[in-house]
Amino acid sequence: MLQFRAAGRFQIFGAHVIGTFGSHRIHHHALSATTVSTLTRPVYAMSHKRNISLKPHDLWGTLKNDKVTQNGAPASESSPPSSNTSKTPSSPTQSKKLPSRPKEMSTQAAPKGGAPKPLPEFIQQRNQLFDQLWKDNEEDLKSRDKPGIKIELTTEGQSKTALDGKAWETTPGHLLKHVPKDRAGQVVVAKVDGELWDLDRPLTKDSKVSYLVFSDPEGRDVFWHSSAHVLGECAEHEYGCRLSHGPPTAMGFFYDMALEPGVAVRESEWPSLESKAKKFVKDKQPFQRLEVSKEDLRKMFGYSKYKMHYIEKFVPDGTSSTVYRNGDLVDLCQGPHIQNTRKIEAFKIMKNSSAYFLGDQANDSLQRIHGVAFPNKQQLKDWEHFLEEAKKRDHQLIGKQQKLFMFSQMSPGSPFLLPHGTRIFNALQHMLREQYWDRGYQEVQSPNMYDVDLWKTSGHWQHYQDDMFRVQVKDDSADPMPLADAKPSGAPVADLKNQDKDKGVFALKPMNCPGHCVMYKNEEHSYRDLPWRVGDFGVLHRNEASGALSGLTRVRKFQQDDTHIFCTPEQVEGEIKALFDFMTYVYGLFGFPFKFKLSTRPEGYMGKLSEWDAAEAQLKKALQDFRGDNWEINEGDGAFYGPKIDITISDALQREFQCATIQLDFQGPANFKLEYRTSEPSSADGAAPADKEAAADDKNKDSSGPGAGMARPVMIHRAIIGSFERFIAVLCEHFAGKWPFWLSPRQILVIPVMKGAEDYVREIQALFTKARLYCDIDVSGNTLQKKIRSGQLNQYNFIFGKLTHSPPMSFLLPVFLDSNADKLCPPKVVGAKEQETRTVNIRNRDDPATQKMGELIPLNKALERLVELRDERKLENRIEMSN
Ligand SMILES: [Zn+2]
Ligand SMILES: [Zn+2]
Repeated sequence: MLQFRAAGRFQIFGAHVIGTFGSHRIHHHALSATTVSTLTRPVYAMSHKRNISLKPHDLWGTLKNDKVTQNGAPASESSPPSSNTSKTPSSPTQSKKLPSRPKEMSTQAAPKGGAPKPLPEFIQQRNQLFDQLWKDNEEDLKSRDKPGIKIELTTEGQSKTALDGKAWETTPGHLLKHVPKDRAGQVVVAKVDGELWDLDRPLTKDSKVSYLVFSDPEGRDVFWHSSAHVLGECAEHEYGCRLSHGPPTAMGFFYDMALEPGVAVRESEWPSLESKAKKFVKDKQPFQRLEVSKEDLRKMFGYSKYKMHYIEKFVPDGTSSTVYRNGDLVDLCQGPHIQNTRKIEAFKIMKNSSAYFLGDQANDSLQRIHGVAFPNKQQLKDWEHFLEEAKKRDHQLIGKQQKLFMFSQMSPGSPFLLPHGTRIFNALQHMLREQYWDRGYQEVQSPNMYDVDLWKTSGHWQHYQDDMFRVQVKDDSADPMPLADAKPSGAPVADLKNQDKDKGVFALKPMNCPGHCVMYKNEEHSYRDLPWRVGDFGVLHRNEASGALSGLTRVRKFQQDDTHIFCTPEQVEGEIKALFDFMTYVYGLFGFPFKFKLSTRPEGYMGKLSEWDAAEAQLKKALQDFRGDNWEINEGDGAFYGPKIDITISDALQREFQCATIQLDFQGPANFKLEYRTSEPSSADGAAPADKEAAADDKNKDSSGPGAGMARPVMIHRAIIGSFERFIAVLCEHFAGKWPFWLSPRQILVIPVMKGAEDYVREIQALFTKARLYCDIDVSGNTLQKKIRSGQLNQYNFIFGKLTHSPPMSFLLPVFLDSNADKLCPPKVVGAKEQETRTVNIRNRDDPATQKMGELIPLNKALERLVELRDERKLENRIEMSN
């Protein structure tokens, strides 16, 4: 499973997440890319973990055509490679031929509750069986013992209420009366002892109950998951089809289904599906939960080889699973769901496509219908607006329009930054380098490939091997004529290495940390030298699955603002505070608000308990001092080698991204046996605070701990922008391609208004270029209007036109195009004073007031102000002319 693989990886080497899109989220994106920006998802579309092995209904969620995500499942163990769905091994009662689609069902004017089509017999039989089992279940429930139970109800926030209830009778839905009315109305699903729980499902023992609403990520998933059932119900009514699976995604939900052979869903049928959904919603269909034995499941779903696949694969013989019924749909599903369909106020089909069963081309091709749903209509409107905005801002689109980057099949997933993209990269790097200068960082460069011995020491080889590119380096140690780099006397370096199967195997670095450890170890360190802050913009490679590659957001080659801080344990707090300050500066430049989440010691941690406690205390104190209570804690979610702080920024569309991370690491320094001389005299027998207790806590059998007078430094991995490539993608979408001046690859465009002005235009270009501003000129044969329009489309921050100099040429010059209409503004007569001085007329991209007629500004002043604007890295595209 990609998500598990990736999650594991981030756990282990969490510090250098290039794009902590939290793996599976990417997935959704990779797949929903056709509808919306591929960059990421909105804030309310954050993480949802799917319990893959338990939810057949949800299986393989969004994993079309992505083999990696198939859990290594071979193509089709139980589904015969047939493209003909009518060959389904099915119940004997299967209808021979489904009724062809009546035309009226395909039109906008779907009949309002008109004569309903009879459902295929296999559906009717399935439902009859459900009814019968449901009745038995009711009887069974009635006869059950119903002892009293204690319930702790948590309503909004922290307020807890102790209540009495009855096992097998009291439901979380009953307890809603204890919740303030407006909140109760919004409740999507309950949580019982940490488990998502249907509102109508009886409690069975003493329980802690709380509720989730749509804005909770898990609540939203349940809502969309439930909406998928409604879609499935619509589809069965519309097509009499066999459903496969229908999970929630980051962008809504979909359902896969097998229609008659050769039949595809048509867009013209969407309104009919939607009107059915509308009716089912009105019907207030409850979601009925029923436990069904495997035997009965086979009877119930024998008509569908898809459902049978899940039953055979995931329900062990002799056990049972749950099915849910809403209206006419009975579905194999682990649940939970919303209480009833009435909760869905807005339901919309978004698109349809085809997909292979289990994402494998060897399997049946299915029809996939995507939808989205919300608890109220306004949310749908907002969503549609969001999609439109996101589409316009798609970094791949803007990247193409602005010629920022490209890809080639010659190196999939490795972006080429074109000249204009490189300008953005360089501006970011320049800004960071200035900060490094001010903040006491040292920049280094380290090799791109290392012997696997290094990766074994760091642990990458054990945990991360599949994600690294290997390089076989020719072993020339036996060469009778060694190359110049072999030592003149004695054996070449290669001879000293262990003779094993990895001999000569190198790997491209996926992160810089081990190289920096090697560098640290190269010379002795004293506590006086620490902290040692070392920055590296080196090129990194990760062997991402080809299916996961996506624009600049998931790449194989990238560079980070990677930094490692080697410090004493006591210095951690100060370093963390300094990082917060650094981050505040950097994110402030882009107007990104940000959030913090602290992840603490997990089970199976490495290192000393006392070290963890001290480090966590320092992190908490730093957070407290910096943010008050405005940060979250994720207990037990740290990496095994140290606690971490994840920082999430939100962009102009309130989508969240994790770019920065601060990761403490006790393990790396131990693996590489890094040390520094302490201030204590070396005669002290325990240089580090190695009291008995700490020694007993030591889970990392670091037998060769630091010697007398020496101690082990803490290593802080940190990145602020993370991967440049991904950060550029985020910025691209955040600014919608309207770069702030300092970052802009197209800062100034000079347009001569008439032919004779060309020399002056070139002179201006030379002047601004000398000041290291990106200044282009347009001396093409296009019309003035066309030049301006093209300058606007290319998002030049400032367009210079209507240039005046001596001798005055502006006297005759008209003017600019009205940006909204294709008409010229009335010519302006330039005064005598302006004619004498050298001036430019400047249109500011972001100031509508200057769009018709730019501001007339003396040339030297414009230059001075623009240099200032760049150097101060202002977010706002504006030059002050008042002083
Ligand atoms: Zn379900
Ligand atoms: Zn690192």
